[in-house]
Amino acid sequence: MKVLVTGGAGYIGSHVVRQLLLRGDDVLVLDNLVNGHREAVGVARLEVMDLSDNAGLKRLMKAFQPEAVIHFAAFIEVGESVRNPLKYYQNNTANGFSLLAACQEAGIRKFIFSSTAAVYGTPKAVPIPETASLAPINPYGFSKLFVEQALRDLAAASDFRYVALRYFNAAGADPSGEIGESHKPESHLIPLVLQAASGERKDISIFGTDYPTPDGTCVRDYVHVNDLADAHLKALDYLKDGGESRVFNCGYGHGYSVREVLDAVKRMTGKDFSVVEAPPRTGDPAELVADSRLLTEILKWKPQFDNLNAIIETVWNWELNRRY
Ligand code: UDP
Repeated sequence: MKVLVTGGAGYIGSHVVRQLLLRGDDVLVLDNLVNGHREAVGVARLEVMDLSDNAGLKRLMKAFQPEAVIHFAAFIEVGESVRNPLKYYQNNTANGFSLLAACQEAGIRKFIFSSTAAVYGTPKAVPIPETASLAPINPYGFSKLFVEQALRDLAAASDFRYVALRYFNAAGADPSGEIGESHKPESHLIPLVLQAASGERKDISIFGTDYPTPDGTCVRDYVHVNDLADAHLKALDYLKDGGESRVFNCGYGHGYSVREVLDAVKRMTGKDFSVVEAPPRTGDPAELVADSRLLTEILKWKPQFDNLNAIIETVWNWELNRRY
């Protein structure tokens, strides 16, 4: 299938691009390379372009004529979205709308959207089903929720169909060691802990030790990026087979605390490092765990890396040999 992947040079996008290429799909990556990495795209074609470039988008749709679009391009830092909300509404929401308009004009009717568990805000209960109330607690979550809403409305108004995947905590790296997570600055727990283990960082902070969880630290559903990537391929096949528009949670349905992650990294790497107990980070819910039964039942998703050690091992492999 001819697939346009926006943000395909980013962390999750690049893992999806790799899997699409491996199964023989025809992929064009659109990325402005603000946070993406040229090296992450592999042999896929790359168009360096910003989604705000309406004329460019139009030209590209005409030239490539994709059958489907997978849309990753977005900013992802919750804290930054609180400090600079318009940056998020402009890039994630307004540019998302521009992309949808370009799709509509080009007659593209299959769309996969990279959404987030942040649309749930602070959940009333875990695991969180897709039907839980949508109540983001930061502009990042709203910037994604607005696009979800536009997708719902578009699908109701036309024969356009979409799948929105609400990611829990993406983690891990492709076992080849060729691609992985590389944010500058890095803010995500697992890469930071492994950088502490490798000596690249002097310590790791635990943000909050007094949460109402078994060990007082936040619990997250860490899902391996290749399992996440596989969910996109399955979503694409689902739309191709005529599946109706749907939203799916992407997570394993169980979580690990920050302390459990630190212990697992120490065990796996055999390295010790300093741990600092710090105050909680604003806007961090105590526990985020997916109810992902729909993904398993409807998309027949079969995760291959549902194991914290396996996730950590692939990140360690990446951190020791990273190329970007
Ligand atoms: N976290 C932490 N120390 C860090 C970075 C993150 O204790 O240096 C915690 C954070 O408070 C959250 C969990 O680790 O509970 C996962 O955070 P991350 O930023 O990786 O993902 P998020 O949950 O924000 O999407």
